[in-house]
Amino acid sequence: MNRGFYAFGTMNYIRIDSPLPEQTQSELLSDMQIRCDKLDDLLSAFKPDSDIGRINKAAGVHPVVIRDVTFRLLERASYFAEESGGAFDLTIRPAVELWNIGNGKESVPEEEACRKVSRLVNYRQLHLDREHQTAFLEQKGQGIDLGGIAKGYAGDVIRSEMMDRGVTSGILNFGGTILTIGKKTDGSSWKAGIQNPLRERGNFFGQVILDQDALVTSGVNERFFIKDGVRYHHLLDPRTCSTARSGVLSVTAAGGCAMDLDGITTALFVLGIREGIPLAEKMGIEALYLGEDGSIISTKGFAEGKYHFYISTGIQNGRMGQKNS
Ligand code: ADP
Ligand code: MG
Repeated sequence: MNRGFYAFGTMNYIRIDSPLPEQTQSELLSDMQIRCDKLDDLLSAFKPDSDIGRINKAAGVHPVVIRDVTFRLLERASYFAEESGGAFDLTIRPAVELWNIGNGKESVPEEEACRKVSRLVNYRQLHLDREHQTAFLEQKGQGIDLGGIAKGYAGDVIRSEMMDRGVTSGILNFGGTILTIGKKTDGSSWKAGIQNPLRERGNFFGQVILDQDALVTSGVNERFFIKDGVRYHHLLDPRTCSTARSGVLSVTAAGGCAMDLDGITTALFVLGIREGIPLAEKMGIEALYLGEDGSIISTKGFAEGKYHFYISTGIQNGRMGQKNS
């Protein structure tokens, strides 16, 4: 049974393949949808009453008591900010607001405006107090945006609840963040395609075999607009507060925990191949880049077939790069 619903600013799909009674499946899917709505209510920067909305409103004024879940997610997101040297920065909100990418109100801001917001983007100015379970941003105008990690987190939560409730075979697609449960009912493994960022949704350049794994991609295709022939997309470089230009079309990561992969792919995109591959290897994450020139570069695990990556169709200009290199 399949279900599609809107949350986290994107479409999400859950599919159950286990032979559970129809009604059980249908109830389960409804419960999972409600669970996602609740997580969205807690974590969305767009909702003024969410934990994140309240922290942002109180920036520069006072700390805010938040839910346990939010606190732990902020701690984890801060860890990724730290590990990536700020390439992933959860205080990116002012830059996201400046660009408005993906909501139809986009325009290219003045450089001065970007410079101004870049002074507000600084994860070190988010103070988390574990004892009081509060969060506080130092400066007025600062803001948190968990868009780069929330879908992965939600995917992990939903997958584990589904398994607790007896699902032994299924697949989740939360806006391109894929998580699998067990194997298909015919005993074969789940396969997930990697979107070709330059083609319509559903055009894949490769496939990855997943067994109880997650696959997360950050690319130039998810949200973008084109102005005067230039593509501006939603992955922002916290240093410039402009579209990240790192010579990369997308980066995909595979592993067990979707939240970790989600945080890291955003960072890896911003860092580009030269800095990104060593970071992924250091963090023990398998990653695969699609470069602007069509080359495919990956960490050792991918290259050695840990996730059985296959190239399925040609990429830009027919150049494929070396398989798994
Ligand atoms: P998607 O699946 O929507 O492409 P990503 O995980 O790639 O999601 O994250 C993109 C989102 O993360 C943006 O829409 C924005 O909200 C936020 N973001 C953009 N740049 C950064 C960054 N450098 N660090 C942290 N979050 C970012
Ligand atoms: Mg991400």
